[in-house]
Amino acid sequence: MNADYPGAIVWPAHESNHLGPPCVIKGLILHTPEETADAHPGTPLYFAQPDKSASTQYFASYLGFIWQMVPENVAAIANGVLGKPYPAWANPGQSLNRQTTNIEIEGRAASIAQTMPRGSGQWKAVVNWCAYICKKYGIPADRAHIIGHYEVANNRSDPGTLDIGAIVADVQAKLAEEETMSSQEYKELRAAVDVLQKKAAANVEFVQFEGFPQVYRVSGHTLEHAKDLAAFDAQSDFAEVRLLKKGSADYVTFARFNASFASLPREVGGL
Ligand SMILES: [Zn+2]
Repeated sequence: MNADYPGAIVWPAHESNHLGPPCVIKGLILHTPEETADAHPGTPLYFAQPDKSASTQYFASYLGFIWQMVPENVAAIANGVLGKPYPAWANPGQSLNRQTTNIEIEGRAASIAQTMPRGSGQWKAVVNWCAYICKKYGIPADRAHIIGHYEVANNRSDPGTLDIGAIVADVQAKLAEEETMSSQEYKELRAAVDVLQKKAAANVEFVQFEGFPQVYRVSGHTLEHAKDLAAFDAQSDFAEVRLLKKGSADYVTFARFNASFASLPREVGGL
C-alpha cells in the first residue's frame, strides 16, 4: 500500500477491518479514538489486528504525523449512520462509509480541546490534511462537509470538545493562501527547519514508540535512524519549496513536515 497523502506514514489496516473499494469522498468525518494523547500511536496498531471491524483511512498523531491505514478509494468501517439524518450531500441509499474519508485524531473526546490546542503541531497536521482532501476532491471546506462522528450517530460523542468550527476556519484560511512564497519567506522557513531537524537528530533516543521497532516508514522511505532524516530531506521537495503555490499538495507536505519538527521539542520529552 502506498500513501495517498504525501508523506503519510503507512500502516495498513487488516483487510478484515474495511469494506474494500469503492469509496467516493464527498465529506470528511473527524473522530477521537479515546486513546491517550502521547508518543504512542496505538490506533493504527489496533486497526492492523484482524477482526476488529473498525478502521479509518487516516490517523493524526499527537506528535503531528499523519498515518494512513486504508487507501482513500477503499471504504473504512468508521461511521454507520444511527439515529441521525444523512448529511445533505450524501446518498441515503448507500453506506456513509463509501462516501466519506475519516481521520482519528489521537486523544479523547473530553480532553482533545486541551491536548490539541489551536496552532499546535497536531492541530496544523489536521488542518493541512483537511485542506488537502477538500482541494483534491473539490469538497467545500465548510462546516457542512467537515463534521464530527457524533453528527451522524447518536451513540457516539467524538470528537467531543474539538472546536470543528475553528478547524474549518483554519482550513479556509489555508486554502485562501494561493500566492507564491517569496525567497525571503523560503529562506526563513528553511533555516527554521534546519535547526529543528538538527535538534531531532541529536535526540533520536527520545523518539521511540513503545512496542514499535525504531524504524519509521515515511512515504516509501525507511528511516532507520534519525541521521537518515538528513538523507530523506535531500530527497524531498524542500529545495523547490520557494516555487510552490501555498495550499498546493507539495506545499502542504512541506508545511506538515515543518509543523511536525516544530512539535518535537514540546512533545518528545522536552528537547
Ligand atoms: Zn468515531
